[in-house]
Amino acid sequence: MERKKSFNQEKIQIVNRSLVLDLIRQQTICSRSTLASLSGLRLMTITNIINELMSCGLVVETGLMSGNRGRRSVGLKLNDDKYKVIGVRMTRSVFYVGLFGLSGQICKKKEYKVSHNEDVEVTIARIRSAIQLTLNENRDCSVLSAAIAIPGPYREDIDRLLFVTELPGWQNYPIKEALTKNLGIPLYIINDADASAFSQYWYRDKKYLIYVLAGQGIGSGLVIDGKLARGSTGLGGEFGHTSINFNGPECFCGNHGCIEKYCSLLVLYENIKSRLKAKEPSCLFIDNITTETVSVAVKNGDRVACEEYKKVCALLSIGIVNLVNQFNPDIIVLGDELTQIDPDFMLSIVNDKIKQCIQPLTQKGLTVEINPLSENPSLLGAGAIAAQHMIDDPSCIMNQLRR
Ligand SMILES: [Zn+2]
Repeated sequence: MERKKSFNQEKIQIVNRSLVLDLIRQQTICSRSTLASLSGLRLMTITNIINELMSCGLVVETGLMSGNRGRRSVGLKLNDDKYKVIGVRMTRSVFYVGLFGLSGQICKKKEYKVSHNEDVEVTIARIRSAIQLTLNENRDCSVLSAAIAIPGPYREDIDRLLFVTELPGWQNYPIKEALTKNLGIPLYIINDADASAFSQYWYRDKKYLIYVLAGQGIGSGLVIDGKLARGSTGLGGEFGHTSINFNGPECFCGNHGCIEKYCSLLVLYENIKSRLKAKEPSCLFIDNITTETVSVAVKNGDRVACEEYKKVCALLSIGIVNLVNQFNPDIIVLGDELTQIDPDFMLSIVNDKIKQCIQPLTQKGLTVEINPLSENPSLLGAGAIAAQHMIDDPSCIMNQLRR
């Protein structure tokens, strides 16, 4: 009976500590009394937790700040100078390694090109070296953890990426096992759409949202009450493989008529190219189809570009209507390359479809917007996930200091 009580007390301590750290993170700077009122914990409990967090340097005082009724109190913030994390974003042609403060502030970012058909073992070794280099270059602080956002459905219990286009060799490769070899810090792997969704919660405080990643692939990430809803094995949100036509072409996932087959950036390029091959008049050139050239063509009213872009946006909207009916989000955030071609044009098509196809009371209060974060949300989300793991349970940091 005694042992159980002490186990519970320890658990409560971890939960309270995490709650306080998370509130400081959300408030950026706040006082002990604000923490007490936001958390519902007694001021004495807050004082004890803050003493503990300050003794290991996770939290620092910022000086006097003005509070309620003219009272001045001491501000507290997370110690970004002492504790940092690493966020990595992997795409089909490049990977980025970012160094973040524990509060999610990005400090540095480096870009590494990945050549077409580069062997997965080579790329993984390069990512591991880049993380190692970041660790070596920042010995003056403690880098606590890393997270990497990757395209495609990653099943975390068996450490396998199930399928992904344009990244040969990555499917069924033990990514985490290879990346963590001799790394010395915990590393988390997450799907890029989930990372992007989490960035909207972490950096914009949106608690019920769906992030639709519309790029070379189509994906989505779902945040419910500030938590990522990833399913039992991390495979939730595979929006790209929901069907909009059960008689449609077979997809490599096994389904028919997957939305990714109709409205990814790659499909848009193929559709434009086939019309150019048929000698339709256009300002575009078949060997120079990029987001930039298509964007200019759409904005200049080029018929081929406008019609094809409109078609993919309209098909994507059908899928978005399905998402709204299933999950009832407050906000849908659209991001990635397809949205960058003409954000306003895409937004108007999606909004029209929602007005047309969703019951008025269901759509009341729903906002659809293009991702407004200036840094890539998938990279920001990777940094946020690495930091959130430490905030959820900083006992590993505290235990190291006690040793
Ligand atoms: Zn599919």
